[in-house]
Amino acid sequence: MFKKILIANRGEIALRVQRACRELGVKAVMVYSEADRDAKYVKLADEAVCIGPPPSAQSYLNMPAIISAAEVTDAEAIHPGYGFLSENADFAERVEKSGFVFIGPTPGAIRTMGDKVAAKQAMIRAGVPCVPGSEGALPDDAAEVKRIARTIGYPVIVKAAGGGGGRGMRVVHTEAALLHAVQTTKAEAGAAFGNPEVYLEKFLQNPRHIEIQILADNFRNAVYLYERDCSMQRRHQKVIEEAPAPGIARRLIDRIGDRCAAACKKIGYRGAGTFEFLYENGEFYFIEMNTRVQVEHPVTEAVTGIDIVRQQIAIAAGEKLPFTQRQIELRGHAIECRINAEDPYKFTPSPGRISAWHAPGGPGVRVDSHIYTHYLVPPNYDSMIGKLITHGDTREQALARMRSALSETVIEGIKTNIALHREILVDANFEAGGTNIHYLEAWLAQRE
Ligand code: ADP
Repeated sequence: MFKKILIANRGEIALRVQRACRELGVKAVMVYSEADRDAKYVKLADEAVCIGPPPSAQSYLNMPAIISAAEVTDAEAIHPGYGFLSENADFAERVEKSGFVFIGPTPGAIRTMGDKVAAKQAMIRAGVPCVPGSEGALPDDAAEVKRIARTIGYPVIVKAAGGGGGRGMRVVHTEAALLHAVQTTKAEAGAAFGNPEVYLEKFLQNPRHIEIQILADNFRNAVYLYERDCSMQRRHQKVIEEAPAPGIARRLIDRIGDRCAAACKKIGYRGAGTFEFLYENGEFYFIEMNTRVQVEHPVTEAVTGIDIVRQQIAIAAGEKLPFTQRQIELRGHAIECRINAEDPYKFTPSPGRISAWHAPGGPGVRVDSHIYTHYLVPPNYDSMIGKLITHGDTREQALARMRSALSETVIEGIKTNIALHREILVDANFEAGGTNIHYLEAWLAQRE
């Protein structure tokens, strides 16, 4: 096992990884921007290094500063968390060239999966079903683009090969709107992701977002830790996640899970990863793979009892997976609500000083958050300030525990989306389970 790990992230995930290190008896080096100087996980860290001013480009995305911090503190490995540099193949490569272990897959795997066109091609080769669409990036030839869209059938969705975080996507319903949408998405993708390539997919009308968590070691062992249902979304961003997915037959999950684990072996994948699918009419369609730990990983930890971050670290340290597929059990049901510092209905960010914070508790309640009373939520980063996770023997119990946890939670001084979560948790359709990816937006629209 490593003696010391540097955590190249901030906020709740930095604290989550720090906790895993403590449990393993590994020293954790925290890096922080000037905006995060007062974070508790920085103050309570074994060691902490300031890596630059508040803007991410100069701190959490600053590769030389992070690698120097690892050098001066004699860390052996770097955990990238999610977001920031976690899916940057060049960073993983530089970390390894500098003599550190990157806690994640190989730079090659990150590069392939970071290009959604290349990722889909790899999945087709590995026998994973994909959303029907253009095979590869769209050509410049307008007539050819129209022909491809016609073959797929409208509506189609134009997607950036380098896209992420719900950005770089545009739905097209008619041929008249196609070329303009392609051009606009290309221009945006070039500016936002440094890669103007776009591709087309069939726009599925009423799918659910179902994803499979996998773990793979360096010895060609790969397992799936079942699924998460992340259909409750706004602007392609997840708001509530749960495991298992209500109403989907276990044999369908096992079949697609097996495919994912087999694909990991085939492509020599290592570490934690997530295969994201759209699910409609009993079929799964791959959309992308995330090569890092995900925000919603705790719901899987709750229902499997497996610590995903601990496993990431163990795999990077060269250990074998300590369980086989048959030993992975599914126990009960778990739900996660993402807590954002934002207006609950207008969604405008609401950074600022938290004047009071009271965390919920009780059986089956987990709070992953770095906030505290008098904490200043900086305006520079993502608005997510924590996650509430509840677990129960049944979905009903997990929901009841979440309603109770939400009613206990107090955050004053800033606006949060807790009021929205409270409303969703008593919505009859959500309670019934199995709502699709458009449900929340439709619900918000009719609420107005
Ligand atoms: P990102 O990398 O930005 O998260 P994804 O490819 O994972 O992008 O897609 C994010 C979300 O966008 C999905 O969960 C789904 O809601 C929607 N989406 C993506 N592709 C399609 C599609 N072909 N049909 C319908 N919705 C889609």
